[in-house]
Amino acid sequence: MAKKQFRAESKRLLDLMINSIYTHKEIFLRELLSNASDAVDKLSYKALTDDTVKVKRKDFQITIVPDKESRTLTITDNGVGMTKEELEQNLGTIARSGSFQFKQEMDKAEKAKNVDIIGQFGVGFYSAFMVADRVTVRSRAHGSEEAWEWKSDGTDGYTVEPCDKDDVGTEVILHMKEDTDEEKYSEYLDQYRIQELVKKYSDYVHSPIRMEMEHSRAKERPADAGEDYKPEYETVREWETLNSMVPLWQRPKSKVKKEEYDQFYREKFGDWEEPLCTIHVAAEGQMEYKAMLFIPSHAPYDYYSKDYEKGFQLYSSGVLIMDKCPEVVPDHFSFVKGVVDSPDLPLNISRETLQHTRALHIIEGSVEKKVKAELLKMQKEDREKYLKFWKGFARQLKYGAVNQYGAKKEVLQDLLLFPSSQGEELTTLQEYVERMKEGQEKIFYLCAETVEMAKALPQAERVLEKGYEILYFTDEVDEFVAQTLGSYGDKPFQDASAADALPESEEEKAQAEKKAEANRPVLDFVKETLGDKVFDVRLSRVLRSGAVCLSADGPMSLEMEKYFQKMEGEAMGGMKALRVLELNADSQVYGALCQAVAQDQEKAKKYARLLYDQALIIAGLPVEDTAKYTELVCSLMV
Ligand code: ADP
Ligand code: MG
Repeated sequence: MAKKQFRAESKRLLDLMINSIYTHKEIFLRELLSNASDAVDKLSYKALTDDTVKVKRKDFQITIVPDKESRTLTITDNGVGMTKEELEQNLGTIARSGSFQFKQEMDKAEKAKNVDIIGQFGVGFYSAFMVADRVTVRSRAHGSEEAWEWKSDGTDGYTVEPCDKDDVGTEVILHMKEDTDEEKYSEYLDQYRIQELVKKYSDYVHSPIRMEMEHSRAKERPADAGEDYKPEYETVREWETLNSMVPLWQRPKSKVKKEEYDQFYREKFGDWEEPLCTIHVAAEGQMEYKAMLFIPSHAPYDYYSKDYEKGFQLYSSGVLIMDKCPEVVPDHFSFVKGVVDSPDLPLNISRETLQHTRALHIIEGSVEKKVKAELLKMQKEDREKYLKFWKGFARQLKYGAVNQYGAKKEVLQDLLLFPSSQGEELTTLQEYVERMKEGQEKIFYLCAETVEMAKALPQAERVLEKGYEILYFTDEVDEFVAQTLGSYGDKPFQDASAADALPESEEEKAQAEKKAEANRPVLDFVKETLGDKVFDVRLSRVLRSGAVCLSADGPMSLEMEKYFQKMEGEAMGGMKALRVLELNADSQVYGALCQAVAQDQEKAKKYARLLYDQALIIAGLPVEDTAKYTELVCSLMV
């Protein structure tokens, strides 16, 4: 039988683990038991709709058999089992959950030395090699007549051969390492140590974990025993269930420790970091259910891809009925992980009936409320934590606010954060409004690629001069958010660079028009020089110290144009904003332009082009012809 090699990453990971990057070797048991429990869940779930499953619900179990003589520890389950292919795929390959990120994290883990890499990438099984120098897995899959034996010493590859096994399920046999001075592997063959580990890590596994325990017991006192009778002891062996099987979510909140929530989350959802927060719900009234919701502390690597599937695990009185039920999770909170358990959910389900179960909508509504409340609380009480959340999920919340024409405005608007002219910190809309000055009626914003670029935009100067705060929209979607929300409370959003951003008196307006008329020849000259490049050339009403800027007429802004340009190849790719070149009549540069128009039109044309290019640069748009631009600048210098 030829040995097959582990994948490259697997090999490195094995090395890492065997060289004990992970200090708690004892967790190997938790990992194997959780795999066994998953396997049992899968088969009992199948049993709901599949008559060929022979095991009765009450007969599902996991057993542990330590054998000191042969130094083996055997963990057996009567779950779904694995086919030959599954054995090879599941146990011969790790990092199924994204090998790229896996490698990155592994490098980090190597540095950090004590990071929990187990459970992070579906590598739990490999923890067996921390305590065993050989592992044998014998398995027969449900629905299959064959059984297969997988064997590996963990260092270089594995073999798979046919074997005899009567029952469906899996048997994992660990051949424990020899004791060393530092590490006593024998302890994992000790019944009390095993019992302790099961209690510690796997108490809520909801299939019974059973082990034959050996106890010494006093024999019954014979009837004719005299005064000086000394009790005799005998050794009895009895199968005992080691775990209490009460799922974590069924326990009262006050009885669950944070570590237990964290551990549950990590194991169940394969995250290596603890969740940012945990929401434990015990709902009564309209509908009875228990739920545990977790907000992850970072976005999963595939979160913003189409591969990501939202959904909670659904239980009906402790029995898993669906692994990922999307209906109970609102789209905009699709990052939330969780389990829901309700006696009101039907055990015998099909997707179609579930979709129409009113219960699910009730749960969805309450999940939305709870998550929002929790996030708001975090935002107020622990801003640092909230910023971490925001880092991972800002985009999701913003898209959520834009989706469905802003139907979720009320739910999401208070969760949003933006950079602002007020300081380094991100601000909520409410905080912005609370800081608004007397007479300020609008929420000002400026779009730019970065905060630095926004700060440098000359067209916002006059708004800042008034002491008004400006939100900086640096994310493509921000402007759409503002448009969709329209307003926050009774305060409308207002582009700070727009001509009408600040109220103008009739007199000011008339004056501006008069000034524009007087400058008509110069403006027309520039427009003619630039041709199609610009829609219009105007005297700016927004500039203070700056000489030029670019703005847009009509509903499409320059930032939106950039956004659409990025969507290359798509239908929107060609959409352009109506560009308006704004000139500051009070600037010295404008004086120079006027003079050139009057005296040297060739030079004036160069000025016009130069000013346009500068406006592009300020707006963060590409200069159309960089070679020509440098030529132009040089020709003006000599
Ligand atoms: P994870 O449990 O996170 O997926 P593991 O390394 O613990 O990662 O296990 C890898 C895979 O091997 C599991 O996803 C499962 O498909 C399979 N597996 C492991 N143990 C068993 C078992 N006892 N019965 C059936 N399948 C198992
Ligand atoms: Mg596992």
